[in-house]
Amino acid sequence: MKVLSVSSELYPLIKTGGLADVAGALPLAMAAHGVETRSLLPGYPGVMKKIQNPRRVLEFDDLLGEQAQLLEVTHEGLDLLILDAPAYFDRPAGPYLDAAGLDYGDNWRRFAALSRAAADIATGALEGWQPDLVHAHDWQAAMTPVYMRYDQTPELPSVLTIHNIAFQGQFSPQVFAVLGLPPHAFPEAMEYYGDINFLKAGLLTATAISTVSPSYAEEILTPEFGMGMQGLIASRLSSLHGIVNGIDADVWNPDTDPMLTANYTAITLKRRALNRRAIAEHFHLDDDAGPIFCVVSRLTWQKGMDLLAEAVDEIVARGGKLAILGSGDAELEMALLHAAARHPGRVGMVMGYNEPLSHLMQGGADAILIPSRFEPCGLTQLYGLRYGCVPVVARNGGLNDTVIDANHAALAGNVATGIQFSAVTLDGFLQALRRTFRLFDNPKLWTQLQKQGMKSDVSWEKSGERYAALYSSLLSKGH
Ligand code: ADP
Repeated sequence: MKVLSVSSELYPLIKTGGLADVAGALPLAMAAHGVETRSLLPGYPGVMKKIQNPRRVLEFDDLLGEQAQLLEVTHEGLDLLILDAPAYFDRPAGPYLDAAGLDYGDNWRRFAALSRAAADIATGALEGWQPDLVHAHDWQAAMTPVYMRYDQTPELPSVLTIHNIAFQGQFSPQVFAVLGLPPHAFPEAMEYYGDINFLKAGLLTATAISTVSPSYAEEILTPEFGMGMQGLIASRLSSLHGIVNGIDADVWNPDTDPMLTANYTAITLKRRALNRRAIAEHFHLDDDAGPIFCVVSRLTWQKGMDLLAEAVDEIVARGGKLAILGSGDAELEMALLHAAARHPGRVGMVMGYNEPLSHLMQGGADAILIPSRFEPCGLTQLYGLRYGCVPVVARNGGLNDTVIDANHAALAGNVATGIQFSAVTLDGFLQALRRTFRLFDNPKLWTQLQKQGMKSDVSWEKSGERYAALYSSLLSKGH
């Protein structure tokens, strides 16, 4: 089976969050199921710099008004199609935001162009290779099934995966004229409260919808989590699938990870102490026995980082230490920087994005804090489980599905892998932290938690099977 995957980021070439990890790992996992994936992504400067010996396979004279070409290349085992469109993607700042942190004003056109190119490939523009199915990810690729629907060609099945329904690609209706769709597509698919909305149109037109955990699939049916899409998703319930993300178990393997100071397994867990010391040095934390909590996150309200800022004083008062890696909302960055300044030796912060450091933190911190208000899947708790860095998580979305709370029964049955809390409030979070301190004070129980977490199946094995079953069911329906 041949699949075209379409995403705006893909690890290891360009990453701002979990979407990249999934777009990079899923094709490798699917190969075991006889699925041959080619992944289409934009040719941002960072991507163009990293790829070697690309081959030009297609030219576009007029891709929504700009010239572009398609490059084919293999990179670290991934078969890639790079959309080299300098007018859209050759920009020095991030993939979505300019140097001032603002959305590029033409993001609608940039990602509609990506989707337009994908639909062309889907309908046979590429010599010698046509997919059987298209798998689009998030709003940036969500126009792909829309174009496929309105192209006058036999329709291939498509899957649209929602990694975060809060990001929808909503734009002024004025841009509709440039999208190259027939006029009736506006009322039929694109219109959303007077604007146009890429995600909404994709959810309406894709053959199947998936999201990244079973709990999130249920949550997005409610007004609280559905962000306005709940009615539409309810109308497509029979086509909705919740499949939890896995992680690339080769990239994230504490036994071989080159980014760690010391490698270890569940049997040589004591060696984590060397990574712990390395973190303490990196974040200028005291080298005492108090637990080191870490946070690797976008610093946003969604991630509960305001709650973290409020919880800092209690963490420190109880003898804990905190290492924070991330960037995001200026106000939250400031609040956390102030917390670090208030508590020298107890709270350290590194602003920005640092992949190697994120590995070291998982490999050395005692626990990772994830107080998200909503979390479609979440990957950092999965890394935490694999690395013996106990996850302390809000009970929602993928956090609910992947962490087993250390309640009495779970501890007695030796199945607990972390600490969960609901009511994602300061009080709820503080209670979870108090519970975490108590568990940490009991080394036998704590080691049990770590080892049980390390045994959790966080690989792509089961989820790869579920995607393979979904793909097969769509093909056998004869689209
Ligand atoms: P989201 O995609 O909503 O940001 P996820 O938990 O699904 O959240 O994925 C976040 C990914 O980005 C993880 O791989 C995490 O390790 C990584 N990450 C987040 N912030 C940073 C950072 N500041 N430095 C390095 N990696 C980060």
